[in-house]
Amino acid sequence: MIQVTHLQKYFGERHVLKNVHCEIKDNEVVCIIGPSGSGKSTFLRCLNALENAQAGKILVDEFDVTDPATDLNKLRAHAGMVFQRFNLFPHMTVLENICLAPMQVKKISLTEAQKNARELLKRVGLSEKENSYPQELSGGQQQRVAIARALAMEPQVLLFDEPTSALDPEMVGEVLDVIKSLAHSGRTLIVVTHEMGFAKQVADRVLFMDDGQIVEEAPPQKLFENPQNERTKVFLSKILK
Ligand code: ADP
Ligand code: MG
Repeated sequence: MIQVTHLQKYFGERHVLKNVHCEIKDNEVVCIIGPSGSGKSTFLRCLNALENAQAGKILVDEFDVTDPATDLNKLRAHAGMVFQRFNLFPHMTVLENICLAPMQVKKISLTEAQKNARELLKRVGLSEKENSYPQELSGGQQQRVAIARALAMEPQVLLFDEPTSALDPEMVGEVLDVIKSLAHSGRTLIVVTHEMGFAKQVADRVLFMDDGQIVEEAPPQKLFENPQNERTKVFLSKILK
C-alpha cells in the first residue's frame, strides 16, 4: 500500500505540493488528472524519490521514501516509472535497453535477462524488434519498449507520467492497450493522463489535482459525471467538450 501524509514540496519559493494526503491500495489503478503545472509529475516523482519533499511522509509498501537511509535502487526497482518521453538509451538496442537495469541492479545473468526481456517484448507485441535501435521505432513502439523495460524490474508499483502525451494520435491506443493489460494483475498502477476515456474504463479511482492539492477523488463514473468541487467542474468542462 502507498500512504502519503502531509506532503509539502517547494521549488525555491514556489510551493508545488501543498499538504498532499493520499492512500493507494495494492492492485489499485489510480489515474491522476489536472491542469498543467498542478503538481502531478512532481507528486509522481516524489513517490520514487526522483524529487525530495521538504516535509511529510511517504510510505510505498515496505519503503519509507522520505527516510534518507532508504536504498533508492531497491525502491525504484519496486516502484518503476514510465516517462512521457520514453528515455530509452539511443545507442543500445531494444533488447539491451531492457536487460540493462536487471543485470546492473538485480545482478541477474545476461542469459536470464535476455530470456525475460524476450518474454516482455512478446507481451508488448514487439518480439520482432529486439535488435532495433530506438530511433528505428515509432513513438508508440518506443513507449511500449519503455514499458517492457520498466516491467523487467518486476515492480509492484508502476508510475506512468503522461505516457501517451508525446505520441501521434494514431499510436495512443496501442500504448493504452498495453497499460490496460497490466491493470489488476497484482501490480499497482498510477497513471497521470489526459485520456479521460482510458481513465473511465480502467481506473478504480481518479484523483483531480489543482494548484498542488488533490482537490477531489472518486471512482471515474462519479468524478466525471457528478464532480463535487467547483475546480473539478471547471477543469472537466474545458476538456470534456
Ligand atoms: P504537472 O505535471 O501537473 O504539469 P509539475 O509537477 O511538472 O506539474 O509542476 C508543478 C510546478 O512545479 C510547476 O509550476 C512547475 O513549473 C514547477 N516545477 C516543476 N519542476 C520544477 C523544477 N525542477 N524546478 C523548478 N520548478 C519546477
Ligand atoms: Mg507533468
